[in-house]
Amino acid sequence: MFDQMVNQLAKECKTVSAGDVFGRLTATETYVLNGYHQRMRQCVCSCGTVRNVREFTLLSGESKSCGCLRREIGIARLVEARKARR
Ligand SMILES: [Zn+2]
Repeated sequence: MFDQMVNQLAKECKTVSAGDVFGRLTATETYVLNGYHQRMRQCVCSCGTVRNVREFTLLSGESKSCGCLRREIGIARLVEARKARR
């Protein structure tokens, strides 16, 4: 019973901790506040890029890479499109 309550609370106030992995991003213990009082968590992408990412976009699953993932998907789509044309 008590455990359930604790779990519920933990779910409601989700935060990012050092070492958390979101897609290709791994959170570090460093964060800064931006002009909107949002926490910008310093993350290291698997490609080696260090980026400050808004925590809520990490938690919501919006941010999964430094941008390299999107770039790669974009390139893959271009290649596919070229193949289709032939
Ligand atoms: Zn990257």
